Amino acid sequence: MKVIDHINQAKDTLVSFEVLPPLKGKGIEALYKHLDPLMEFKPSFINVTYHRSEHVFKKRTDGSFEKVIIRKRPGTESICAAIMNKYNVDTVPHLICGGFSVNETEDALINLRYLGIDNVLVLRGDAAKNETAFEPEPGGHKYASDLLQQVVNLNAGIYLEDDLKGTQKTEFCIGVAGYPEKHFEAPNMETDLRYLKQKIDAGADYIVTQMFFDNAKYYAFVKACREAGINVPIIPGLKPVYSKKQLTVLPKTFHIDLPTDLSNEILKCKTDEDVEKVGQEWLLTQSRDLKKNGVPVLHYYTLGKPHVVANVVKQL
Ligand code: FAD
Repeated sequence: MKVIDHINQAKDTLVSFEVLPPLKGKGIEALYKHLDPLMEFKPSFINVTYHRSEHVFKKRTDGSFEKVIIRKRPGTESICAAIMNKYNVDTVPHLICGGFSVNETEDALINLRYLGIDNVLVLRGDAAKNETAFEPEPGGHKYASDLLQQVVNLNAGIYLEDDLKGTQKTEFCIGVAGYPEKHFEAPNMETDLRYLKQKIDAGADYIVTQMFFDNAKYYAFVKACREAGINVPIIPGLKPVYSKKQLTVLPKTFHIDLPTDLSNEILKCKTDEDVEKVGQEWLLTQSRDLKKNGVPVLHYYTLGKPHVVANVVKQL
């Protein structure tokens, strides 16, 4: 079932989770162990992130270096199918521009269709580790809106080979990313919202936000979106804080702020177990407030801390 249908049919705020595919070489069992305690909350859908290939330099025995391509977390599409099979829950694979040609993207979409997956979250992806700025793959997309257009085309039965006859239309429900604290490359919020609106006008069904720790920022973002003529559901993305290190890692990686009240509480903590308690309480307060204000879905980035998310959702 499509995410947008879940939202339209819901009588109350829904819950969804986001997980990463296992690291290459690991089995899927650890992912199931991660998801098992969360399934009692009947998530409407589960997102699975996408991780591009990277170029790395491996040292040879003679001391020289060899450039190799590695992909640490392959298998998003099949992980989605496996989760659907095991838990009978809808899944949302992320699709990114980075590292893909348009032909590879089309093949991935065709595979998703065969697997019975109705949803995709289309994203640009970040720059590869060895690049200073995002570089599209030769023959690949530059912006999420270009990738979105390819999915919209496929939904209209338009494939890359324009001489295919009697093509089947896909029916993907399409999500896109939004940034309550602005995408870090955008010169200002207004410009960022203009490009966000472009994605909605091109056919995206809903927005999922980057994580935020101050609900006021989410509410201001929703207001600004509505004023800009963006009227689709805006799903808040939420993440637990569980270690002192995150005080610097989260702002650096995701270009977001932590409110002073939260950072002060974390600074007082002696251990990461104490930080986890603070983070859990903060997430619960955030979640309760968002639910009270009628958000369509509470979307949790579970990232290795399913018990924290479970403790929060249990109390809602
Ligand atoms: P875009 O919408 O393409 O925007 C990128 C930048 O370009 C913005 O600054 C925007 O303002 C600007 N822009 C957009 N269109 C145009 C245009 N036509 N002309 C000029 N400027 C333009 N990354 C992964 O690698 N894998 C994942 O699974 C993943 N999941 C994510 C899930 C969520 C909910 C979020 C919020 C992010 C996720 N990311 C993921 C990270 C994401 O790929 C990065 O934030 C990336 O830098 C931007 O992606 P986007 O889809 O927002 O890009």
